[in-house]
Amino acid sequence: ESQLNPNYSFENFLEGDSNRLARSAGLAVSAKPGGTSFNPLLIFGGVGLGKTHIAHAIGVEIKDKYPEKTVLYISAEKFTQQYIDSVKKNNRNDFIHFYQIIDVLIIDDVQFLSGKTGTQDVFFHIFNHLHQNGKQVILTSDKAPVDMQDIEQRLLSRFKWGLSAELQSPDFETRVSILKNKLYRDGVDMPDDIVEYVAKNIKTNVRELEGAIISLIAQSSFNKKEITLDLAKQIVEKFVKNTKREVSIDYIQKVVSDYFQMNVDTLQSKTRKRHIVQARQLAMFFAKKYTKASLASIGSQIGKRDHATVLHACKTVDNLSTTDKQFKKYVEDITKKLSV
Ligand code: ADP
Ligand code: MG
Repeated sequence: ESQLNPNYSFENFLEGDSNRLARSAGLAVSAKPGGTSFNPLLIFGGVGLGKTHIAHAIGVEIKDKYPEKTVLYISAEKFTQQYIDSVKKNNRNDFIHFYQIIDVLIIDDVQFLSGKTGTQDVFFHIFNHLHQNGKQVILTSDKAPVDMQDIEQRLLSRFKWGLSAELQSPDFETRVSILKNKLYRDGVDMPDDIVEYVAKNIKTNVRELEGAIISLIAQSSFNKKEITLDLAKQIVEKFVKNTKREVSIDYIQKVVSDYFQMNVDTLQSKTRKRHIVQARQLAMFFAKKYTKASLASIGSQIGKRDHATVLHACKTVDNLSTTDKQFKKYVEDITKKLSV
């Protein structure tokens, strides 16, 4: 049982600048599993950008070309669960052996292994065995190896052996093609201006882009209404609002501290160390920008500061991001990571 979903094919994965490297590398690996320098192939990127889709597509393609090869797709979460069960049942060796005889191993969302030292350890041994025997390993993750936390160094260094390819948010043209392709496959007609309206307004997550179109089709068919631009506006508005609501001050602090590779506790601490102060100021700035919380409330949630400190932080970030290139990049990177 390979656990592969045949709908997640390369054919259905529309190409654009945002995914060209990952897509091409995936195709190269599918043509010669274990026979390229892309081993492991690690595909990373934000939520809903197609990591799982490409991971399956590679497996589907290999199975098609090389039916005799054993290909296995598994989420890191399920892998972890299986490992824990094997330890409980006292058959850890069977678990290891099962994975060591696979030709193509695809593990989705390896960030899930963070902090799980036992599973990391067993995966390290499986990985080495497969790699030494010329077997192909494909991994996906929500971040680049350099940004992964609580993953053992020796495993991280393995992740970097092959190719790490990033999936970025698709540009407008790619978003339009993705939607048109989906509509075509579902046999639904939709006027171009409506498709373009949706593609224009939902930018950072392909799953949501498709979700908006699905709910547009459903709304129109259940209510026997025509698909109009007005209906599209209502639906897109709901989607955009829902995404915005997900950005909480906690989430912002988490994203900012992850970005600077520190703990949230450090970000909130009383220290005057410059890089920590800057991280804290950025968190305050984004909290002001993306939540409805008052300055006082932001201050109390980010290290128990007062509203004047938050106001000062916002001004500082505004100033620095126009005068300091590095700082401007921080703001841009974090904005992307927050996906708003
Ligand atoms: P991730 O694993 O990165 O969170 P998924 O692989 O689950 O994202 O993708 C979310 C949805 O978006 C899926 O339905 C997938 O088919 C679709 N999708 C993402 N990128 C593309 C693309 N380039 N072309 C077609 N569909 C895409
Ligand atoms: Mg996924």
